[in-house]
Amino acid sequence: MTIDHASNFTNNFSTIICLDLEGVLVPEIWIEFARHTGIEELKATTRDISDYDELMTMRLGVLKKHGLGLAEIQKVIATLSPLPGAREFLDWVRERYQLIILSDTFYEFADPLMAQLGRPTLFCHKLDIDQQGMVAGYRLRQEDPKRCSVKALKNLNYRVIAAGDSYNDTTMLSEADAGFLFHAPDNVIREFPQFPAINSYEALKQAFLEQ
Ligand SMILES: [Mg+2]
Repeated sequence: MTIDHASNFTNNFSTIICLDLEGVLVPEIWIEFARHTGIEELKATTRDISDYDELMTMRLGVLKKHGLGLAEIQKVIATLSPLPGAREFLDWVRERYQLIILSDTFYEFADPLMAQLGRPTLFCHKLDIDQQGMVAGYRLRQEDPKRCSVKALKNLNYRVIAAGDSYNDTTMLSEADAGFLFHAPDNVIREFPQFPAINSYEALKQAFLEQ
């Protein structure tokens, strides 16, 4: 039996929780950004344009066309909020475990939302910003970054529990000692039945406590 108490942090010192960001703690940033700016083209995702580089090149071109530099983009993103209950959930996790957010977003985009989440540790990618403050390009930190991060933590002798909502999380979930789908769409749940599908922060807390 696990006693749900904050002092359990010392018992869980060797466990790291790795969480996806978009769809788990905050809304999909590009989709919300498109909604807030009314720029339809920015609603495209990897489901519409499967080549990630082609998708990002299109997005950066659209930002430029609309004269949206980093400052304007961050101003819009700062009006977005984390998902209801996300901040409380993260606080709960951080009282009991160590936490790393593993995301395929960019530091510059995530920043306004990370501030609202109490700035947990974030491993993600980076944008190139030119002297005019426009987004000139992007730099992926490494190939298969979520899986590589979990692997590295395991090499440091940590036990890793992971949760995410989409295809780009599945290598992280299989590399982890325990992996959960959270708020995942039906097609992902169907294709990856090996990962328990969880739909509320309360149930996810329970799943963590049972590990
Ligand atoms: Mg996600």
